[in-house]
Amino acid sequence: MPANKKLLILPGDGIGPEVMREVRRVIDWMSRRRAISFDMEEGLVGGAAIEAEGSPCPDATVEKAMAADAVLFGSVGGPRWDSLPFDKRPELGILRLRKDLGLFANLRPALVLDALVDASSLKADIVRGVDIMVVRESTGGVYFGEPRGVEILPDGKRRGFDTDVYHEDEIARVARVAFDLARKRRRKVTSVEKANVMQSGRLWRAVVGEIHKAEYADVELENMYADNCAMQLCSRPKQFDVILGNNLFGDVLSDLAAALTGSLGMLPSATLGAVDPVTGKRHALYEPIHGSAPDIAGKGIANPLAQILSFAMLLRWSFALDEDATLLETAVAKVLAGGLRTADIMQQGMARVGTSVMGEAVVREL
Ligand code: ATP
Ligand code: MG
Repeated sequence: MPANKKLLILPGDGIGPEVMREVRRVIDWMSRRRAISFDMEEGLVGGAAIEAEGSPCPDATVEKAMAADAVLFGSVGGPRWDSLPFDKRPELGILRLRKDLGLFANLRPALVLDALVDASSLKADIVRGVDIMVVRESTGGVYFGEPRGVEILPDGKRRGFDTDVYHEDEIARVARVAFDLARKRRRKVTSVEKANVMQSGRLWRAVVGEIHKAEYADVELENMYADNCAMQLCSRPKQFDVILGNNLFGDVLSDLAAALTGSLGMLPSATLGAVDPVTGKRHALYEPIHGSAPDIAGKGIANPLAQILSFAMLLRWSFALDEDATLLETAVAKVLAGGLRTADIMQQGMARVGTSVMGEAVVREL
């Protein structure tokens, strides 16, 4: 009997708890029908944690996250906490978790489901069949590099600066995540940088090339300048399998790739930490791309599929339950093919449903 899988659920604020309720139905089904035993705990994060504990990420939540095999995160924030000072905001909840768990590789799939392609749209032929995974380095680079700041010069003018700095080990570990992913997909990695004009980009290209040659010769590696990649994503996105980029380029290109798919309410993500050499354990957090959507919270109309697909990523990446992950992803695709739509992805001639009907439909399809 394999050990139970320790799962921490952090619903958070706004539509977070609403869409998490639908994931729980899926988990119930998986436990009963696939005999997967989860040890589930729930924790407080974001505004919900501020109300209960006075902090957006209480120590108890961090401790639970450290002890868990995987964290399923909802979303945080809302107008109720908008006037709090910067260092007290609900968003700090997720920032602290990313930092304390050392989550350096952000995985964002951009998958265009056939059922959602609007055949009358000009871009239909361009996006149909797109299946991209963007791997973004998320703890280094220009967002964190020192020195940084805005200084006043002797003549009174201001000068702003940031530092794009990467250690080769930081590049190597995120490159390995991308290559490992590619092996489970179509075996192609496109590594993006600006090696033509940036020194950190030159190092990035060199290190990715070395890792490729030494450890992943079975995967195709293509180097591409980030600006060219942006253009190619818009004009010929189907050429991409895995896109690997630093914090800045990965941020921009993953949003661009997401726009190809059309809906925020459909997109999951994962952030992975390092593999512990002793225990073999790797911290990981899974969350939808969307936020707490205060404008629709409490109305029962949020699309639960991004949260459900985040759970599918969790099954695949934290528990190596590839078959179950695929089963769940297929069920989602079939529900959409059957014509059910939440408001955010509504199309003519389809049946509009709310959050819980969509969740129930996925379980029925399973
Ligand atoms: P954050 O800063 O946390 O990313 P945000 O304000 O940028 O939040 P969201 O909270 O994701 O963005 O909301 C953006 C828009 O998308 C809102 O109009 C929201 O209602 C809509 N939206 C987001 N998620 C969903 C969902 N799961 N289902 C339906 N609509 C959604
Ligand atoms: Mg946002």
